[in-house]
Amino acid sequence: MLIDVHAHIGRIVKQRKEALDGTHLICKMDEWGIDRACVLGLSETPEAEYQDSDTEDVLRECSRFPGRLIPFCLIDPRFGRNDPSMDFSYLLEEYVARGCRGMGEMLPKLAFDDPRCLNLFRQAGRFGMPIIFDMNDNPIYYGLRDDPGLPRLEKALRECPGTVLVGHGPTFWAEISGDVPPDQRVGYPSGPVRPGGAVSRLMAQYSNLWADLSAGSGYNAISRDPGFGLEFLDQFQDRLMFGTDYCIRSQKTVANVGFFQSLRAERRLSDDAWEKIAWKNAARLLKQEIRQ
Ligand SMILES: [Zn+2]
Repeated sequence: MLIDVHAHIGRIVKQRKEALDGTHLICKMDEWGIDRACVLGLSETPEAEYQDSDTEDVLRECSRFPGRLIPFCLIDPRFGRNDPSMDFSYLLEEYVARGCRGMGEMLPKLAFDDPRCLNLFRQAGRFGMPIIFDMNDNPIYYGLRDDPGLPRLEKALRECPGTVLVGHGPTFWAEISGDVPPDQRVGYPSGPVRPGGAVSRLMAQYSNLWADLSAGSGYNAISRDPGFGLEFLDQFQDRLMFGTDYCIRSQKTVANVGFFQSLRAERRLSDDAWEKIAWKNAARLLKQEIRQ
């Protein structure tokens, strides 16, 4: 069993010419041996720009493959009143009733602890919705913002204890190392991971911080220093989840698919830890019934 907690449908490429629908996603999942995938929206957030995929698109495609695709909803923290008193319950109620199991991908170019974000995070938690967020400090891109050491994420974890926040994105994963040169907070840092990184510290301290291993950023974080990567996977085996961030139809491979398979084939991780990261954690968090 393998659950991908981070996939997309829609028109995601810049020219908006290529559409990826549920059928394409299922074909790719079959090719990669993925049983179920969470489908995350993007275009509720204006900074997602050309990326065309909203909650209605996600729900429509997921309804075509109910045993395989798990819908996520997306709400922008600025939606409605654009202030921290906005009540999102009518939307959350509807999305839960229509089968959404989480919220994401949270992309706004806002400080992580912006009061509008904290307001939305708290309300999502009340409805049992974990939030997959993207963190990116690159000024030209979307993504939540944080300072070195991730104090704003820490504030959100502290102030929203009932909400599971699932880490993803270049800046989040760069902070796995205790030493993050300023020019590497937005890229794919290489070389040894120095002890004392914010990601490990926060994962150890806050049980509401989870992470998905999707995309180049997740793959880079656990493979740049193989020894550290294995220790990290083992230490946080109860709150890490496999993911791809598959979003472009022509995408032939995703590095973490092969990497994850090799972990099992070469027995570099215990079977128990591998199973948890492969699907058990996602099934628990997203209330998936799995009969094996
Ligand atoms: Zn994504």
